[in-house]
Amino acid sequence: MSSWSFRCTYCGAQFPPETLVWRCLRCRGVLAVDPPLLLDRGAIEVSTSTLWRYARALPVEPPARTLGEGMTPLVPGQLDGEPVWFKLDFLLPTGSFKDRGASVLVAFLARAGVRRIAVDSSGNAAAALAAYAASHGLEALVFAPADTASEKLLQSRAYGARVELVPGPREVVAATAQAAAQEPGTAYASHNWHPLFAEGTKTWLLEVWEQLGGMWPAACFVPAGGGSLVLGAALAVQGVGTPGPVLVAAQPESCAPLVRAWERQTREVEPVTPGPTLAEGARIGAPPRGVLLLEILRQCGGWPEAVPEPQLVETVRLLWRQGLYVEPTAALGAAAYRLARRRGWVPDGPVVIVLTGSGLKAGTVVRHVIDQV
Ligand SMILES: [Zn+2]
Repeated sequence: MSSWSFRCTYCGAQFPPETLVWRCLRCRGVLAVDPPLLLDRGAIEVSTSTLWRYARALPVEPPARTLGEGMTPLVPGQLDGEPVWFKLDFLLPTGSFKDRGASVLVAFLARAGVRRIAVDSSGNAAAALAAYAASHGLEALVFAPADTASEKLLQSRAYGARVELVPGPREVVAATAQAAAQEPGTAYASHNWHPLFAEGTKTWLLEVWEQLGGMWPAACFVPAGGGSLVLGAALAVQGVGTPGPVLVAAQPESCAPLVRAWERQTREVEPVTPGPTLAEGARIGAPPRGVLLLEILRQCGGWPEAVPEPQLVETVRLLWRQGLYVEPTAALGAAAYRLARRRGWVPDGPVVIVLTGSGLKAGTVVRHVIDQV
């Protein structure tokens, strides 16, 4: 870990790490860690079998206690007869890739003296943040939309989080969490905004790079709601310092703000109203980093892909039949790969598909898919 500060990606304003900001205090823009943290290959702690093996490229010291997060398997599989690699991030301690961002963000906040975190999420991010809060002995306040299925909040409650349902649109839920974070000793631990969450998430691609023998895959297909896997990938590539893989951001067709902006060839990403989808983890109509995500996709030769529901259902079944028990959201990347392959758009070389969340967390949706004929 070297010395760094928060830098606004819009106006360039800088803030020291101890200020606990989560967005620019001047223009409300998105922050990044500055200067970017580089990965010196010789500085990887190879005897550490968690994501903290990359501690030297992370903005916080490793915590005394971990839940064993990171270094998930990269296994060979196939889709439509083609060989692919599956990155099994649904095997992380809380059952989703959000552990990467949550573990690094909570370690940072705990070290900064925070005693309580406020979170707005209805699903995997809340569970991950609640788990690492528990592990660090912090209190967690989870604010969830009033229509959230109670099943989805069980895990956060089990970790000891105080869960509160908030009526009204998603922005109101976020504002309620932000207001709660005004209390002394409390921080807003936003998985969509906080740069430390993105820093933790970059470890998925650092691991892939290491698991492939210090090489990038040709292409990676990942689910994209808030887009933290895409952003994390860009940080990983920046850290290693060689041109990275083609990234494809898969969104459900009924909630695909990145795809709509791509089609219109606009720089801005206009919010969409999320329609119904089984990929409930990707129902983010207004991703805060939308502009940056499009920029990243353009620079790596990638694109956003809209996945229709029938393809999503068909693909999650294909994964289950290979023994990969994921939730439907986690099948978005695989479904996007199959669509791209049919168009002949997949580059030659190893292809990595990130499987983001466990089916064990999504009984109701899984039952729905199984019962559909
Ligand atoms: Zn700013």
